[in-house]
Amino acid sequence: MHDCRATFSFARLLPGLRLLITSVLLAAAASAAAFPLSDGTETECPVSRDGKSGPARIKWVQYERLQDRDPELGKAVAVVRQAEDGWPVIYIDAVAHKRGRLTNAGLWDFVFFHECAHAREPALTEIEANCAAYLEMEKRGLMNPIRFKDIEAAHLQILNLPAEYGGNGIEFWRRTLECVQAGGRKAGQPGGSAASPAFPS
Ligand SMILES: [Zn+2]
Repeated sequence: MHDCRATFSFARLLPGLRLLITSVLLAAAASAAAFPLSDGTETECPVSRDGKSGPARIKWVQYERLQDRDPELGKAVAVVRQAEDGWPVIYIDAVAHKRGRLTNAGLWDFVFFHECAHAREPALTEIEANCAAYLEMEKRGLMNPIRFKDIEAAHLQILNLPAEYGGNGIEFWRRTLECVQAGGRKAGQPGGSAASPAFPS
């Protein structure tokens, strides 16, 4: 009789347990480190800090209304911030990503690799981060003439940018290509924030 009641109680607890496990899994998924690339694979952004190595965390910023968007993003579609433990977190505008992925997936690969470059090397300038993103896409076979034109167009549309991006999209892209042609060696100016500009497309 006693055992029977115990079993019964456990059965009643099961739905709650399932809910708890689901919540834990969802929380894990929300803080996962994998980014879906345009070729259908997923990638992580491996970083090393203070002798520790592992992937940068990714925070997908969800929102219903624009005014509820995480202010950490500012005007950007993606930024890198440091968590309290010092580990880099790549914030991505999940709404813009969901929309933009279908029409310009290559640009989102580029945005991710740009932020990843900042996460890996916080001292990089904006030009250098863009340059690293370009070279990474080329290395992975993700760059082609169509992608190039799409990514270029997204840059050229930006009229005004802070000085660390070259002041506008045309100059930002020109300096990026200059760095790419130089094989990724130092180009551009030192300093700057770790944000990607808000690509308007
Ligand atoms: Zn940046």
